[in-house]
Amino acid sequence: MALEALLARLEADSVTPVTPAETADVTAKPAPVLACTAVTPVTSCAGVTERATLWLLHFPDLDPVAVAFAPERDQAEVLAAYPDALAAEPVPEETATVPADALALFDACAKAGLYDDDDRAALPAMFALDPEGVRRLIEAMHERIASCRRCRHFRRPGLSDGYCTGRDDLPHAHGLLHELPDDEGMRCNAFERV
Ligand code: SF4
Repeated sequence: MALEALLARLEADSVTPVTPAETADVTAKPAPVLACTAVTPVTSCAGVTERATLWLLHFPDLDPVAVAFAPERDQAEVLAAYPDALAAEPVPEETATVPADALALFDACAKAGLYDDDDRAALPAMFALDPEGVRRLIEAMHERIASCRRCRHFRRPGLSDGYCTGRDDLPHAHGLLHELPDDEGMRCNAFERV
């Protein structure tokens, strides 16, 4: 599955429902990483010039929504990304230690090209904001890493390590079987879940 498709599917799984129109122009990456329930009181936000990772957005017909951006954005960029928002205010940033198991999943996603350095930099603040929501987001992303062993084109005759039956561009092994790619299908566009 193409990276863009993976990211689009992840965006649809954001913790709080934010309409596609509100997220479509933010970035080519998934979601400005995370949308979750507001956790701070509303304060005046006129004339804000600072850049921040976390922003509290106010919409006409929604409760305020906190959104994390990677990399950090200024107010004008945030409002441009969410044109339906009436106001945006930076949320004082706290950080939390990222649990080792969640970090391992994140690392696997990063290795597959699904997260980048900006996402990693935002991770402690995101965990401070909504640890369970962020964990679910990372787990969902990790589920979408392609893998030969979860692909319907994978065959494992006898005691072999397995072969691919879906890609003719891979070195030929026997009959319809081809050698597996070095990345074990992590970036394979022919991946189809069993
Ligand atoms: S190389 Fe791609 S198509 Fe072949 S088994 Fe692996 S994920 Fe599936």
